[in-house]
Amino acid sequence: MKPRIWLSLAHMCGREQEFIQEAFDTNWVVPLGPNVNAFEEVLRDFLIENGELKIKNEDKRVVALSAGTAALHLGLILLGIEEGDEVICQSFTFSASANPIAYQGATPVFVDSEQDTWNMDPGLLVEAIKDRLEKIGRLPKAIIPVHLYGMPGRMDEIMEVANRYGIPVLEDSAEALGSEYKGRKCGTFGEFAALSFNGNKMITTSGGGALVCPCEERAKRALFYATQAREQAPHYQHEKIGYNYRMSNICAGIGRGQMFVLEDHVARRREIHDLYVRLLDGVKGVKVMCQPEGGDFNSNYWLTCITVEPEVAGFTREDVRLALDADNIESRPLWKPMHLQPVFKNAPFYGNGTSERLFEVGLCLPSGPTLVNEDIERVVQVVKELVR
Ligand SMILES: *Cc1c(COP(=O)(O)O)cnc(C)c1O
Repeated sequence: MKPRIWLSLAHMCGREQEFIQEAFDTNWVVPLGPNVNAFEEVLRDFLIENGELKIKNEDKRVVALSAGTAALHLGLILLGIEEGDEVICQSFTFSASANPIAYQGATPVFVDSEQDTWNMDPGLLVEAIKDRLEKIGRLPKAIIPVHLYGMPGRMDEIMEVANRYGIPVLEDSAEALGSEYKGRKCGTFGEFAALSFNGNKMITTSGGGALVCPCEERAKRALFYATQAREQAPHYQHEKIGYNYRMSNICAGIGRGQMFVLEDHVARRREIHDLYVRLLDGVKGVKVMCQPEGGDFNSNYWLTCITVEPEVAGFTREDVRLALDADNIESRPLWKPMHLQPVFKNAPFYGNGTSERLFEVGLCLPSGPTLVNEDIERVVQVVKELVR
């Protein structure tokens, strides 16, 4: 049996254990502490670092949490989402983008993707907003666009629509740490943004996430809800429902170490993507998803994805997946759109067929930073053998 090639494995830089050891030595084995504060600071610096845009983003604050899902949930709470509200969400995504809408007793309204980025179609977004206004007489209370597989969405257009209707944006940047749109980091466009540090994301804290907040005051509010909503009093006083969503000082230690390799990981994932493009060039019916030309989009290429047009290729996406599996290589179909998920079958949907088609023909290929070029060549070899 050939060695297993995984889709996306975590990779430690080696310094993670220093920070964990420090936490043990100083007895900060709790969901707050020096690692949590320092991790938030480096994340913030990373997000707002770019040149003149720094001024624009300087007020942003990062709150480290137990998961990206918790970040999305708190974002919705801070935006005042309540029972009976509607929240627009990209349909083509992981369920964690949409579940927190249901946690709040609100209704997700799903919007389809556009062809170039596979992310929220700004035209359909307008259509959805207008139609909801007409049908229920109220505007959706928030918009959740996603930078899927690290590819930035069309944020200029999405923000323009959101601002026109005065609807706040909660950016799902769980897969897009290090990606940029027009020189600005993903996670800094919306009023709030969610990051994820789960095991297979750009960096990991073994499990964790963060909420990017617009200012100190909002960050304090996020922290309040994330730590059981304790009011100021010597005893335990509660006027709001709280959550236990804070990141532990141990996990944050891993995160601090991971920040030293983030840039390398982004560079390596981009290299892997370019290698796939080069090696799969000329294979009829198989296309590697690439960012739109022109320089506005700079994906971290968290995962390299391909589409397989069976009429042209002579084989299907599923043939590729099974052939890879037989060679001990992990791959996965693209996200099944939320509007096709049984759990969301009653949610309104504004579609154009894009995500349904992508779900049929798309596949994520192994893309982790620990892969060597020979691994990528092995993956491509399996695809090429299907041609014959
Ligand atoms: C991973 C992911 C999340 C959730 O993050 P967790 O840290 O796993 O809770 C949310 N949205 C998208 C698009 C993701 O890929």
